[in-house]
Amino acid sequence: MDAAVTTETPEAPEPVVRTVLGDVPPAELGRVDAHEHVFLRSPELPGSEFLDPDRMRQELDQVRESSIDTVVDLTTIGLGRQPRELAEVSAASGVRVVAATGFHRDAHYRDDHWVHRVSPAVMLDVVMSDLTVGIDAADWAGPFQEATEHRAGIVKLGASYQAISARERVRLEVGAEAARRTGVPIAVHTEVGTAGQQILDAVEAAGVRPDRVVLAHLDRNPDPDLHAELCARGAHLVYDTVGRVKYRPESDLLDLVEAMVDRGYGERIMLGADVGRRQSLASYGGGPGMAVLGRQFLPRLVRRLGEDVVDRILVSTPARFLTLDRLDQKAES
Ligand SMILES: [Zn+2]
Repeated sequence: MDAAVTTETPEAPEPVVRTVLGDVPPAELGRVDAHEHVFLRSPELPGSEFLDPDRMRQELDQVRESSIDTVVDLTTIGLGRQPRELAEVSAASGVRVVAATGFHRDAHYRDDHWVHRVSPAVMLDVVMSDLTVGIDAADWAGPFQEATEHRAGIVKLGASYQAISARERVRLEVGAEAARRTGVPIAVHTEVGTAGQQILDAVEAAGVRPDRVVLAHLDRNPDPDLHAELCARGAHLVYDTVGRVKYRPESDLLDLVEAMVDRGYGERIMLGADVGRRQSLASYGGGPGMAVLGRQFLPRLVRRLGEDVVDRILVSTPARFLTLDRLDQKAES
């Protein structure tokens, strides 16, 4: 019997998505808003920080009522992550949260930030700890590390307008290596939808397939030809300026989604509202609020493209993308 057991092929691990409250089967995610921030503070956005757990509990209650079940919180290291409070508001609201680790583009870190001084090896240790042990309670700002039990489930990185700076490239390589080891997906901020091909090149050179990457803010440059080229390489795109009509009317965003579906890339598209300042949050007295995606945009999208397409964009694509890619998983040492 023992011999038979030892020759058995080990069972494939169950597919899971890593949320702040633990790993869950992908089918439990429901409808996913693929780009939000539950807490955020950046020197790039003075006076716009939102860090109040009570208000963000109210915001997530509205998200839940709007028919969204899960949000991907793409706040990176040093920009106001509060893992314990994040877990609390997730549990209280019933909205599942996939939290991020990783590093944003240069503009979000002052010159004296430690991220500019430490070696890539130290950066990798920090990111791996967030992914495999638990996000640091003080978001790596305190004198000592204090890992919580709340792990990150995605690596977020960033590039500048039309280019990846030298510092950003180092952080991209670190983040890609962490994703390669753990199987989590990668989200990359693009500035006005630019540098997508260069980002995919850098990630691919670091050993991660483009289909494990979602490029953010591509709808800032609503060019279906370009988007099709990126999707042809396997990349996912998140259209995440839903509700921000200062950029363009929402009918243009509906046109863009329809154009991508028509080109056969409906399975590469996700949606989010990317609420990034307190003035945009209903719980702080602003608008359109994080619930704008479920409340306002989705009904229009259903009328335009039907329930099946919307299920693909909101449910099946994020479920597949956020599932840990265990085939890529390497030893975590
Ligand atoms: Zn964002």
